[in-house]
Amino acid sequence: MTYDNIKSQYDAHILPTYARSPVAFVRGSGCRLYDADGREYIDFASGYGVNAVGYAHPYWLAAVTAQAGILAHASNLFYIEPVALLAEKLCALSGLSAAFFANSGAEANEGAIKTARKYSSDKYGPGRATVVTLEGSFHGRTITTLTATGQEQFHKHFGPFTPGFRHVQPGDVDALAVQDDDVCAIMLEPVQGEGGVWPLDAGYVKFVAALCRERDWLLIADEVQTGIGRTGQWFGFQGLGVTPDIVTFAKGIAGGLPLGGFLVNEKLRGVLQPGDHATTFGGNPVCCAAALATLNILEPALPQVTAKGNHIRATIEAMNLPQIAGTRGKGLMIGIPVKDGAPKDWNLKLLEAGLVSLTAGTDALRFLPPLVIGDEDIDAGLEIFEKVMWG
Ligand code: PLP
Repeated sequence: MTYDNIKSQYDAHILPTYARSPVAFVRGSGCRLYDADGREYIDFASGYGVNAVGYAHPYWLAAVTAQAGILAHASNLFYIEPVALLAEKLCALSGLSAAFFANSGAEANEGAIKTARKYSSDKYGPGRATVVTLEGSFHGRTITTLTATGQEQFHKHFGPFTPGFRHVQPGDVDALAVQDDDVCAIMLEPVQGEGGVWPLDAGYVKFVAALCRERDWLLIADEVQTGIGRTGQWFGFQGLGVTPDIVTFAKGIAGGLPLGGFLVNEKLRGVLQPGDHATTFGGNPVCCAAALATLNILEPALPQVTAKGNHIRATIEAMNLPQIAGTRGKGLMIGIPVKDGAPKDWNLKLLEAGLVSLTAGTDALRFLPPLVIGDEDIDAGLEIFEKVMWG
């Protein structure tokens, strides 16, 4: 099908919930994408941080096709090998104790919130169910995770919203210290992604962790975007000197297949009991086999993530582009604020020139390249970026 054919089918049959770019991708290979006209693009977006190992990685592909041929699904009523192996691996990488597998980031966060509320109600009874999140945060699109999201633009149209959420300004220690005794948890992203790629201050996160310990609030790290190597360590919290009680993940975990979930520490492993929480597809064997392959591929790539991110940022800053006001982020999670406040226009111009990027917040372009991206693709992408940004 041509781009026009595909687009007209979308216009006819798909709800217009996304502002799509005028490209139909038909194939990916390594860190490059190809559209319906055969045009090649360098990928600095990895499908919103999902394609951590690029496209059609042979080891990943072999693992996925093998598992699809053995057992694609059996349900969580049974014991399935790749699910067990993945949980073991994630516990080892995070230092946490047990996993629950879901399908998406929002669903992972829903499970984390349920765990926090149940821990609190088991121990303290009702009236202690509030989850505090940060202004500028993003936690998902379900009614509850929209409520958790600390951005007013998401609190329209779909009410009534789930009660029991409050938002505080990141870095404002006083606003947290005065929270009431109705709180059960604080949820934060180590680097706010959708909000604009804003890394949280390590001192602030340590303060939050200490307050949580003191008051028996649970610290939930939403690592849907920062997790699985994105910031240069397996999880963003590992670079902040804290250990959360619950860590959520999704996006990059299965290298392109839908998988999310959360990990809990030893204190919480008994909170959710049979019947408390479930999801039909969560921990699908093919997705878990894909995740195991993804983690194996990422293992040798992880030590280079920070250097690659620093190289991209230093190169951009050295370009002295009149439209660019510095860079921010961590590892291969990079925000590039544009002075004219129109990142979406630049994003489209970059796409037209053959570089796939994202935007973040209201002012920034965002790069989330595959974590395995090589120097050649990085430099080719940056060359396109420089040419476009000089206008
Ligand atoms: N949490 C964070 C930090 C995210 O960045 C996102 C998505 O961008 C989500 C949650 C929601 O994930 P999903 O779209 O998989 O539901």
